[in-house]
Amino acid sequence: TNRTFTMLKPDAVEKRHIGAILDKISASGFRIVAMKLTQMTKGDAETFYAIHNERPFFGELVEYMTRGPIVAAVLEKENAVEDFRTLIGATNPADAAEGTIRKLYATSMGENAVHGSDSDENAAIESAFHFSGREIF
Ligand code: ATP
Repeated sequence: TNRTFTMLKPDAVEKRHIGAILDKISASGFRIVAMKLTQMTKGDAETFYAIHNERPFFGELVEYMTRGPIVAAVLEKENAVEDFRTLIGATNPADAAEGTIRKLYATSMGENAVHGSDSDENAAIESAFHFSGREIF
């Protein structure tokens, strides 16, 4: 569909990159239809990333995602999921294309500044995890 879900992760917030990243998102044609500064609990992160719970980096991932506030947002644009994945770049910033958000702002595979949903189905699930219906415009 035309919506995706994103988080500006704790490293991006700590480094004061919220403004620059939101500028890039807006300049790339996405409309922000929901947004908040929030912090995930351990339980939240374990649920959100349940698909990775057998992976060796799971504990580290939960620690990272809960260590400070994040910006959660829902974005609207034609072809939103795929176009946003292109805008953020590869999971590992070393592999991310020039000009992508991860190339510009991520530190490492573990601390990679932003999340973008990988399917329409997950975009809907992840948006509903963070926002109630009346918080999405
Ligand atoms: P995201 O779901 O955050 O958009 P992604 O879809 O590019 O990222 P996934 O493979 O779904 O990547 O991994 C989810 C997150 O887990 C990554 O964004 C990263 O923060 C962390 N992660 C993934 N692989 C590793 C790894 N090998 N070591 C440490 N952390 C990792």
